[in-house]
Parts: sequence; structure tokens; C-alpha cells
Amino acid sequence: AAGAEALRTHVRDVHDFPQPGVVFKDITPLLATPAAFGTVIGALAETARRAGATVVAGIEARGFLLAAPVADRVGAGIVPIRKQGKLPGRTVAESYALEYGTATLEIHHDAVGPGDRVLIVDDVLATGGTAAAAANLIRHGGAEVLGLAVLMELTFLAGRERIPSLDVTALLAI
Ligand code: 5GP
Repeated sequence: AAGAEALRTHVRDVHDFPQPGVVFKDITPLLATPAAFGTVIGALAETARRAGATVVAGIEARGFLLAAPVADRVGAGIVPIRKQGKLPGRTVAESYALEYGTATLEIHHDAVGPGDRVLIVDDVLATGGTAAAAANLIRHGGAEVLGLAVLMELTFLAGRERIPSLDVTALLAI
């Protein structure tokens, strides 16, 4: 849509970040542009509202920047899914493979439970490993995962294939 094309102009390519050969999609110009940021939050909130989310789960760190205003708009709570060692209480952890090595995400063991309807929000869907781990953490607590909503999907990495059980909404596709 025209709106999506306007958003695209605020995403910057950064070559060789975080390692040589990678083209990183930098969303900080978009975050700093009020009209673009407002469009993104409005669209993600519409997704959350339509899905009937009672909880928005944000993924560290850029996911927090989007999940918090979305949760506020729809009257949902926000639950942080964080990198290992950051949450103060008892946690449940899920590790997943990266291209080189592994990563671990955590959630407070009592953050979500039966009856919670959870939408996962992040900035970018790449290989899908992060979203798959987040969904497992939420389901571990007995909550329902409504889907994944992201600003941008890197379609050439086929992340959706790794998360076939998740309903994915992406405002932009690259
Ligand atoms: P995945 O697990 O899907 O491969 O990677 C997704 C995670 O890595 C997201 O949390 C996202 O923030 C981050 N990520 C991967 N590639 C990019 C990128 O090009 N731009 C941004 N902004 N984040 C990325």
C-alpha cells in the first residue's frame, strides 16, 4: 500500500552490520519520525485489537519500543521477553540456533498463563528463530499465542516457514 511505501523510506540499509556480508535494516530513522512511527503503532495496534489481544509480548530490545505503545493503545498489558540473565524473577528459558552459536530468551515463569491472549511484537522477522522461541515461552505458561506482528519481514530468509503455527502480520516486506 501507499502507506507502506512511505514507511520504507525511513528504513536505512547498514552494510556489514553486525558482521561482514550482512545488510542490516536500521529502523532508527523511522522511530525518530513522528508521522511514520505513529503509522506503525496505529497499524500494529489495529492488528492487536482485531486479534483480541489481552497481552502484548515485546522482544528485547527493539520489540519493546513498538510493543509498549501498542499495548497501551489497546488496553493490554505488556510482557517482556528478554535475553538471558536480564529478568530478576524466576524464569523459563528457550535456546535456539543462530548461524554461529546459540541465543537464549527468557520470560518470567508467571508472566502469562491460561486465559491470556498474547500477540508477539518485534521489529523484524528474519529467520524466525526468535519468534519461534518466544512462542514456545508463551505457550509453556499455558497462554494462547495469537500471532506475530512485525514492522518488517525479510522474506528471502523464509522466516514464516520456521513458524508455521503463527499468524504473521508484517507492515513491510523486503
Ligand atoms: P530471527 O530470529 O528471525 O532470525 O531474527 C529476528 C531478530 O533479530 C529480531 O529480534 C530482530 O530485532 C533482529 N534482526 C535480525 N535482522 C535484523 C535487521 O536486519 N534489522 C533489524 N532491525 N533487526 C534485525
